[in-house]
Amino acid sequence: MRTKMIAGNWKMHHRPQEARAFVEELGRVLWARNELYGPLKEGVAEAVLFPTALSLAAVQDALGDLPVSLGAQNAHWEDHGAFTGEIGAPMLADFGCAYILIGHSERRHLFHETEVELARKLRAVLSTSARCLFCVGELLEEREAGKTHQVLERQLLGALEGVTIPDLTDRFAVAYEPVWAIGTGKTASDGDAEEGCGYIRHLVADRYGQETAQHLQVLYGGSVKPGNTAGLMVQGDIDGLLVGGASLEVPSFVGILEAAL
Ligand code: 13P
Repeated sequence: MRTKMIAGNWKMHHRPQEARAFVEELGRVLWARNELYGPLKEGVAEAVLFPTALSLAAVQDALGDLPVSLGAQNAHWEDHGAFTGEIGAPMLADFGCAYILIGHSERRHLFHETEVELARKLRAVLSTSARCLFCVGELLEEREAGKTHQVLERQLLGALEGVTIPDLTDRFAVAYEPVWAIGTGKTASDGDAEEGCGYIRHLVADRYGQETAQHLQVLYGGSVKPGNTAGLMVQGDIDGLLVGGASLEVPSFVGILEAAL
């Protein structure tokens, strides 16, 4: 049984005070509702928040012993050095980040991070105690040209070159985020999302074997809302959701947890 994961990627939103207020409100809801708190506390499901680097401390402090994990949105591939504006993965892990997001489509397409750089970043995260949530997904023109599988294979297997099975099962999760579905209101249909996530599992099974593939957590992301959560979560290859816009407000984030758990 794979653990379900609901992750909120706040992108460049929520200053420290807003981040703290969000977590305090979320905490009040979770403490009051055992049907949400219970699965998180028992580890049947995991909730993760990815605030900006500036708001990590406020979120960590406000979380206290709430069963919600902290994640960072990015890390550099070197541990330390002359890289103005960057943060090394060991620094984030030492700080208490359980997860580090690598390869988000905004990093790939707006900040032109290359697949070589992303593979180095993945390795940097795997050398720490944090887990890597690695994002892959095709552009609309790639989908229309029938290249979705080719893109997923290149992005995923390219980055995994040299990664070992124990790291893959214990320290790694994938998020399938078709770029055309991010922030557009166009959620992939349940079938499209399942097909993409299933193909990712198939790629891992082909290279690493069925057992490893069956352990791998695969998330879907792209215009997830409370209303489309249940339909996505009943799909056999979708283990969780990476949520952008709808993770910014407590009622919609809780609505997603309710529908997913
Ligand atoms: P939206 O949920 O706003 O479409 O964003 C998805 C995403 O990019 C999460 O990482």
